[in-house]
This record gives sequence, C-alpha cells and structure tokens, in this order.
Amino acid sequence: MLLKQSYDVIVVGAGPAGATVAYELAKRGIGVLVLEKEKLPRYKCCAGGVTGKAAKLLDFDISEVVEDVIYELSFTFNLGSPYLGQHSQPLIYTVMRDVFDYFLVERAQQLGAVLIDGQKVTQIQVSDDWVEVSTADNIFRSRLVVGADGAYSVVARELGMGRSIEYLVGIESEIVVPEEELAKWKSRVHIDLGCIPGGYAWVFPKRNHLSIGAGCLVSKARHLNRRHQKFLNSLSMGNYTIARSSSHLIPTCTKGRLVWQDKALLLGDAAGLTDPLTGEGIHNAIQSAQLAAPVIENSLLEGKVGLQDYQQIVERKIMSELRIARTLSRNFVRFPRLAFGMFNQSDGVWRAISNLTLGEIDYAAVKGKAGGFKGILNRLLRF
Ligand SMILES: Cc1cc2nc3c(=O)[nH]c(=O)nc-3n(C[C@H](O)[C@H](O)[C@H](O)COP(=O)(O)OP(=O)(O)OC[C@H]3O[C@@H](n4cnc5c(N)ncnc54)[C@H](O)[C@@H]3O)c2cc1C
Repeated sequence: MLLKQSYDVIVVGAGPAGATVAYELAKRGIGVLVLEKEKLPRYKCCAGGVTGKAAKLLDFDISEVVEDVIYELSFTFNLGSPYLGQHSQPLIYTVMRDVFDYFLVERAQQLGAVLIDGQKVTQIQVSDDWVEVSTADNIFRSRLVVGADGAYSVVARELGMGRSIEYLVGIESEIVVPEEELAKWKSRVHIDLGCIPGGYAWVFPKRNHLSIGAGCLVSKARHLNRRHQKFLNSLSMGNYTIARSSSHLIPTCTKGRLVWQDKALLLGDAAGLTDPLTGEGIHNAIQSAQLAAPVIENSLLEGKVGLQDYQQIVERKIMSELRIARTLSRNFVRFPRLAFGMFNQSDGVWRAISNLTLGEIDYAAVKGKAGGFKGILNRLLRF
C-alpha cells in the first residue's frame, strides 16, 4: 500500500454529484481529489433526462453534450390515447450519461480538481486529524470526505450512514431504431402510466437511438423485466437491436436521514435524494453538491468541526420537497388510471407538471396554491 498525497477534500464518485462538488470546490481554490471506481467515460443506467430546472443550476452551457431537446411530453394509460403537453421552452435535454458525466468532470479538472479513475474505494477510516480513504492499492488522505458514490454508497456504509432509505428500481434498454422510427419520437418524451404497477414506463429519444425503460417500487418489481419487455413489444420495438440493457436501484430518503458526520457528508444518490414521484436524481445530485460546497469551505477555513449546516439546508431545500413528492407518488401509484384521467379534467395539471420540470415552481408552491395540490389530491381521491 502506498500513502499518496494529502488533499483538503476527497470526493468518492464522479457522477453529477461528485463532478459538481469538485467543480464548486476547485472554483473556491480548495484542493480536491475525485476517486472513481470505473475508467471514465463510463456507462450509467439512466434515461438521461436533464430537466430544464437541472440545466439551469449549471453556470456553463451543456448543449455540446445534448442528444435531443424535448418540447413535448406525451402521456398514456396502458398505451391508450395520449395526452400531449407542449411548451415553448425546452422541458428536458436528453444526454448519454457517459458523455454528460465526463463533461461535468472535465469542467472540474479545468479548475484544478484531480481525478483518479479506476480506483474503487473499499475502506474509510476517520481519525481526529484525517480521513484515510483506501482503494485496492493506495491510501489517500484528506481533511474531509464526500460520498458521491451513488445508490450503493461505500462511504455511507463504511461510516454507518446507510439508514432511512427506500428504493425504487429502474430498468433501461438502449434500442437502435431506423431513422423513420427515430423521427417519430424527436423532441418528445413519452410516459405510460398503468402498464407498470407501482411505477411507469418511458421513452427518451437520443441522437441515434431510443432509451426505453421502466421503474417502480422495489416491492412491486418482481415482474418488472417481463413488463418492460411487454412495453417494448407494444411499441413494436421487439425486432430492433438492443444495444444495452441494465437495471439499477433508485434511492429516496425517508424522514430522519442523516447526511453528515464530523468529517463526511453525502450527496445525490448516496444521500438518497432522488424524487420518489418521477425518479429524477440529476437535479438533486447537482443541487446537493452546490449546497455542500460553501459548508465545506466554511468548515475548512474556520477549522470548524462538523458539517451540520449541510443537513439543515438539505432538509429545507430538498428533503421537504421529497416529502411532498412522496405523498403525491403514493397516490399516483395507487390510482394510475385516475392520475391519468386528471390530465383531461384540468389544464392546471399540465401547467403544474411543465412548471415543475422547468423549475418555475416547486412542490411546496403546488401544495400551497389554492386548488393546487389539495385540489389535485382531492380530485384524485374523488374519482
Ligand atoms: C433506469 C434509471 C433511469 C433514470 N433516469 C433518470 C433521468 O432521466 N433523469 C434524472 O435526473 N435521473 C434519472 N435517474 C436517476 C439518476 O441516474 C441518479 O439519481 C443520478 O445518477 C445520481 O447522481 P450521483 O452523482 O449521485 O450518482 P451516480 O450517477 O450513480 O454516480 C456515482 C459514481 O460513483 C462511482 N462509485 C460507486 N462506488 C464507488 C466506489 N466504491 N469507489 C469509487 N467510485 C465509486 C460510480 O461508478 C459512479 O460513477 C435514473 C435512474 C435509473 C436507475
């Protein structure tokens, strides 16, 4: 084992959370090392939808890594007649996660962050003065460690921070289709409610193929693979080449989730910050990283022990939103036909969805609006 150079901060994981916190820390002149277990760029099982609200968080342009720009969402119930919602602004940018995530990491490297890929972190030891982060053949030292290592976080496990998480599971297939098929889906994301009990199925168009997937609560996932296949067949995708197919957990935290310790904090999926209603995780991965950076900076500057300010701000800005999303999700999951029926009952539902996607309102605003969240839920329960 070789003891390598020491850093102010070691970030474990180079997804959107790790790349963003490295970027934000490097911007502040803080010495940061990112350790990533895969060789980059690496594939990530994901529909690759970067919502308008997620893109707005970044202070640089992502258009060079965008596959398609989405102005229309179509919704069906069990692949029946669609509801079409359109917007003049881009609602979602589709990306391939290997390219997008590497693009974010490169932005951090340009500011001085050090990346070492192909280094799987296996052990973390915290002492009074240091954190020691071990991989198979190296030990790295820092003053603080950031767990941005996704749904199966080794940082959370090693530091005993892995509780209070519920899991969804998602399956994703990259389907190579002819030009004329691709043209049918251009600029449109499709969501089907009903064909996946406890979740939904989707089509996200990319430059040269379609990302087609399905996700649901882990407790309902027994037949997810078969149902995903059925969804593919019902879209007549059965004869096309599946370039890749994989599945992954989607973690979402419940009440009481601790995301900090004296010398450690968790971001993104490692902290369980995906939206339980939509499965969207990139936004909160980026946002949690941006909330963490000033707390880390203060802690390093003032020699302050403890990163509890991060817990408070994450609870206020993210976890409170996830709680409302969870309530909505429970109702949508139980009554998908009724949820779909609401589109035709009121334009307000589409307005709420598009404004949430663009970040023009948050769940709290939907909830607080007279006739908004309560109205939606009441209507859902009345049907
Ligand atoms: C099927 C599916 C579809 C999805 N679709 C969307 C979508 O369209 N839009 C959206 O916003 N979200 C989507 N999500 C959720 C989204 O993928 C995650 O929320 C997001 O990737 C979280 O980012 P992160 O940086 O926290 O973690 P990750 O992106 O998972 O990155 C973690 C990184 O840590 C590395 N790592 C793990 N363990 C170690 C270790 N021991 N040592 C070193 N490195 C390690 C991993 O290799 C990885 O690079 C989807 C998820 C699934 C499963």
